[in-house]
Amino acid sequence: MSDDHRVLLLGPPGAGKGTQSDRLAAEYGLDVITTGDALRNNKQMDISDLGLEYDTPGEYMDRGELVPDAVVNEIVVSALADADGFVLDGYPRNLDQAEYLSEQTALDYVFLLEVPEAELIDRLTGRRVCAACGETFHVDFDPPEEPGVCDVDGGELVQREDDTEETVRERLRVYEDETAPVVDHYRERDVLVEVSGEGTPDDVFDRLVSQIES
Ligand code: AMP
Repeated sequence: MSDDHRVLLLGPPGAGKGTQSDRLAAEYGLDVITTGDALRNNKQMDISDLGLEYDTPGEYMDRGELVPDAVVNEIVVSALADADGFVLDGYPRNLDQAEYLSEQTALDYVFLLEVPEAELIDRLTGRRVCAACGETFHVDFDPPEEPGVCDVDGGELVQREDDTEETVRERLRVYEDETAPVVDHYRERDVLVEVSGEGTPDDVFDRLVSQIES
């Protein structure tokens, strides 16, 4: 396979975009461009000069709200400049971002990972992340050997601040309001491929690969 696939993974929070992005990147030698991780690494960045409602990305994130486009577009444009093939995870999240993206690059595959809402809530509220290495676990579906301790490096497992039930519900509401129109945008252009995000990560990965190889 060529190494320059340009893949967009859409889907609600908890659909498995991060997991599948990493796997696709490893399989096809792609860069992962994930605005969520980039923003988490810059939660305290001073954006007060933009004259927005809050002065840091973290204040939006901890409320489950979208970080303003000016901040996010900047992250994406510099990541795209460094990437040939890529998997985009978590962007675009609204129609203005989709418009901006279409001015920056073409896409070869646009996938929508579909998971019922009740399962999304279970997946997100039970998710635990290693504070040291970022490895992800789930209290029921993928528990570590010792509760609260990372299998990889013994780091402390913590809950993301936006994985509490209240914030998860807000994130799902924001997805319906702002990101579902992005899904429709690609569907109307006949480029959207809907893939079930249910089952194990291996199951979902096999579905994505078979779409790419077909
Ligand atoms: P994620 O890890 O993709 O679930 O993103 C976590 C949080 O980062 C979101 O709830 C938003 O606050 C913010 N975020 C991530 N990507 C974007 C984006 N494309 N546009 C605006 N905010 C974003």
